[in-house]
Amino acid sequence: MPDADVPGTGWVALVGGGPGEPGLLTLRAAQLLARADVVVVDRLAPRGVLAELAPGAEVVDVGKRSGLHLVPQDDIDALLVERARAGQRVVRLKGGDPYVLGRGGEEAAACRAAGVTVEVVPGVTSAISVPAAAGIPVTHRGLARGFSVVTAHEDLVETVPARRDHTLVLLMGVSHLERSVSILLAGGADPETPAAVIERGYRDDQRVTTTLLRCLPDVAQQVGVTAPAVIVIGDVVTVSPAWGSRTVPHP
Ligand code: SAH
Repeated sequence: MPDADVPGTGWVALVGGGPGEPGLLTLRAAQLLARADVVVVDRLAPRGVLAELAPGAEVVDVGKRSGLHLVPQDDIDALLVERARAGQRVVRLKGGDPYVLGRGGEEAAACRAAGVTVEVVPGVTSAISVPAAAGIPVTHRGLARGFSVVTAHEDLVETVPARRDHTLVLLMGVSHLERSVSILLAGGADPETPAAVIERGYRDDQRVTTTLLRCLPDVAQQVGVTAPAVIVIGDVVTVSPAWGSRTVPHP
């Protein structure tokens, strides 16, 4: 653990920064950020906290855009190792939780393989918190007793139970929405299952759109959904205050 700072001995902390709202950063994350010599930051990490860093702390932005990786993963891994070996205290600030679809496991493994001390600080994942920001509990008595979190970048939606009482949370789902919905419907999902898209969770311009699974691709196109967004499919969506104003186009 990077607790006692020994001069010249670097470390890496893989820190989950939560969904973007600085208040959802953990105390451990704040402690490590305050001690960082360098912060290597993702696009969806809570950038507001960067204003609070120690004087002289460096910020390296490796933010990725959908479909366009500005800095390849290998280069990020190499950067973390190189800086820690040079004796720096490195905070790798990631969005949400580092181990939920965030490649944190690979970064931790790269550090360990290079003999660099690494601490992983869990964060508030967008998979649970962004639905919560829209008033959607991922489980709810009588509506859902479990949930799955998958990336829409692969055909994983076909591996989740096609049940309205098992909540499906899709990350990175905007550009593959039509394909994900077709896979779900082909797998036996009820077309009338409630669905929600929460864009820019916790930001001032957060937007929640609710509809039915069968209408989801059309509605998303109609309202102009853009990333980042979390997509929730399941009966729990009906708990959201936004459900009352759901969009259901006439067939
Ligand atoms: N490790 C992260 C997820 C990384 S994948 C976590 O635990 O949250 C990036 C995806 O997270 C985005 O494509 C989007 O689906 C989701 N996401 C992250 N922050 C978000 C936010 N503030 N609002 C909406 N979606 C968000």
